[in-house]
Amino acid sequence: MSTQSTPTAAVHFRRKLAAWYRKAARDLPWRRTRDPYAVLVSEFMLQQTQVARVLEFYEPFLARYPTVRHLARARPATVREAWDGLGYYRRAANLHRLAREVVAQHGGEIPEEHDALRRLPGVGAYTAGAVRTFAFERPAAAVDTNVARVLGRVFRGRKALKGAAGAKAVTRLAEQLQPRRGGAAWTFNQALMELGALICTARAPRCPACPVRALCKWYGLSGSRAAASAAPPPRRSR
Ligand code: SF4
Repeated sequence: MSTQSTPTAAVHFRRKLAAWYRKAARDLPWRRTRDPYAVLVSEFMLQQTQVARVLEFYEPFLARYPTVRHLARARPATVREAWDGLGYYRRAANLHRLAREVVAQHGGEIPEEHDALRRLPGVGAYTAGAVRTFAFERPAAAVDTNVARVLGRVFRGRKALKGAAGAKAVTRLAEQLQPRRGGAAWTFNQALMELGALICTARAPRCPACPVRALCKWYGLSGSRAAASAAPPPRRSR
């Protein structure tokens, strides 16, 4: 999976996506900040959880623990209480451990480097990429299920690779597509996720309303306009 043979398509894809995002994106509180701690809180909460649910918890949690130091000082029971109702409590425990590690080993500053982020509790490749691009505005790939689905459909059509090889290929593609400027990379990565959440959904993609349909291999395949929801990839909450 590569865009190197079609750099023009990559440029068009980025432009169309960014223009659509500026008009159609939801105003979500974690998109109004570049605070890496707040971005991390949102990313932990969004794992396996609907945006609407996270909206109920995100701001109250930050009001209670406004910085990584506040969270590090908290007792586990109170952190669990602040998370109560959001489910998957292991995330709260990992976030709490992460806060303590950031204070103990990084002087209370969330690191920016990929490898340092990956060593923190509960931070996988996706979350590390998300923090780098959404907090530090780095051109870093943040490939979750939504992003993998959008990129697979647009650039591979029905020939999307599966398994570990597919995940590697889609990450490589996301890296190749990153704009160089940090602000543009932030918009690009948010827009990819937003397209997967609002338009290119797993079960019922709204291709006629899609800003990148002219470039999309899935849409361009014969019959896909009428039955774009055939063989849907797995669902993701966001
Ligand atoms: S045209 Fe359809 S399949 Fe292609 S990216 Fe848009 S919504 Fe997804």
